[in-house]
Amino acid sequence: HGDFSQKIDYVFKIVLIGDSAVGKSQLLARFSRNEFSLDSKATIGVEFQTKTLVIDHKNVKAQIWDTAGQERYRAVTSAYYRGAVGAMLVYDISKRQSFDHIARWLEELRGHADNNIVIMLIGNKSDLDSQREVSTEDAKEFAEREGLFFMETSALEATNVEPAFLTILTEIYRTVT
Ligand code: GDP
Ligand code: MG
Repeated sequence: HGDFSQKIDYVFKIVLIGDSAVGKSQLLARFSRNEFSLDSKATIGVEFQTKTLVIDHKNVKAQIWDTAGQERYRAVTSAYYRGAVGAMLVYDISKRQSFDHIARWLEELRGHADNNIVIMLIGNKSDLDSQREVSTEDAKEFAEREGLFFMETSALEATNVEPAFLTILTEIYRTVT
């Protein structure tokens, strides 16, 4: 149970954004609790989950915020973005529209967040490759143009979820130290 000797060196707030049903809540469940649910209800209740990991011999607590079903344009409040040092912009590789909306989410994010926030583009549901509507190349190109980190993940198969969070956390660590 609780390790009372553990000293937290850094707390990093990361926000998850993107269209409804792209898998934000399941990515968070997979990363924070190694859980996944196929019939996940619209996000309710809990505002954020935490997970502590070690980066460069320091205890880093990731505090990851999930939208409580406020995924409509402009519905995410500035309180949600406040203090965030990282953002994961999530789309579903099997839903073109969710990728087309990324530019809008990015605009929202840049309007609300800190200038040096670390942003990562996430193409989730990589297990649905047979229904793919967004090529890896298109996403990679977009990410490069906008200066974002990029990875494809599957919360269902637990592919790249830990590496994605590790990448953004390590990058945040670099910017604050
Ligand atoms: P959110 O609205 O962005 O939080 O999306 P959810 O996390 O609630 O996921 C929406 C639906 O997509 C649920 O039915 C999930 O089980 C499903 N889902 C989430 N991640 C994946 C994934 O990586 N692969 C597949 N095949 N389904 C996923
Ligand atoms: Mg959700």
